[in-house]
Amino acid sequence: WTERQARLQDIRTSTPVTQDGVEIELFGNIELPEDTDQVIENNATGIGLFRSEFLFLSEDDLPTEQEQYEAYRAVAEQMNGQPVIIRTIDLGKDKIPKWQEETDAPNPALGLTGIRLCLAEAQLFRTQLRALLRASAYGKIKLLVPMLSHVGEVRQTRRHLEEVKAQLRAEGIPFDEHIELGGMIEVPAAAFTVEHFLHHLDFASIGTNDLIQYTLAVDRNDDAVSHLYDPVHPAVIRLLHHVISTCNRVGKPISMCGEMAGDPALTRLLLGLGLRRFSMLPARLLKVKEQVLSTDLERIKPLIARLLEADEIETLWHVMEELQA
Ligand code: PEP
Ligand code: MG
Repeated sequence: WTERQARLQDIRTSTPVTQDGVEIELFGNIELPEDTDQVIENNATGIGLFRSEFLFLSEDDLPTEQEQYEAYRAVAEQMNGQPVIIRTIDLGKDKIPKWQEETDAPNPALGLTGIRLCLAEAQLFRTQLRALLRASAYGKIKLLVPMLSHVGEVRQTRRHLEEVKAQLRAEGIPFDEHIELGGMIEVPAAAFTVEHFLHHLDFASIGTNDLIQYTLAVDRNDDAVSHLYDPVHPAVIRLLHHVISTCNRVGKPISMCGEMAGDPALTRLLLGLGLRRFSMLPARLLKVKEQVLSTDLERIKPLIARLLEADEIETLWHVMEELQA
């Protein structure tokens, strides 16, 4: 038990607020319902990413509508009215369930993944939407769609959602009529044109794991190129700045749920870029909160301006050091 751990325990119940009084929201990421305890223990604002596909990875068979409903409802009830953002199935790429045949896609990372797979397999998608809507009667569930690259994917998702809602109404099954629909911004095309997506979404969440992979053309799971996987590459920083400032300008909530959001060495950078909602592994919550508590947004403003204008990589590194000072 070190002094540092004791200090982190001290801030467990404190509100994440910057030195100059700006309140920040810190959410937890979960993979399975049993991870919820850790989110609560660390006093998060809610769940910013429930990777629902993990319900589909562990079993030999597809989970039924009822099994899914029970899992979503359990998390919503446990969070007791705090927001629970559940991402719709994000399979494909590196996440292949036992019941799915080996893919023969030439490049799975650019193939039928995330929302693309759900729109191609409407039955799978609608079963999940039914389970999610039914569970929404028991807490504050919001939906999040992964791997968006075309606005049409949001329109199609809304159409499925409305049809499933109509079914439930006809059956007299309760659900949240105003359930929010958000989109993951994790494909560069969606990041560049985020304002088009915002016309159809209630909120957005940046998936930096994929956004970095696709922006830098670096497979996030390939050790041979891991030295090139750089969250502070100028291209990544500019894209993040564009997405965050566009959302803030049009007044749509923006959060980040990729690993970057849980890296305390990057918290000040993200705060400086205008991010106010972070979602991360529960084990990171207190370390990021510690950074928030020690950050003066006014002090870092000129540093961020310099960073965005930097035309030499050395300047960028230098500013990153100054940010941490
Ligand atoms: C991401 O891409 O940053 C993300 C949160 O999604 P996943 O890591 O599950 O692909
Ligand atoms: Mg992703």
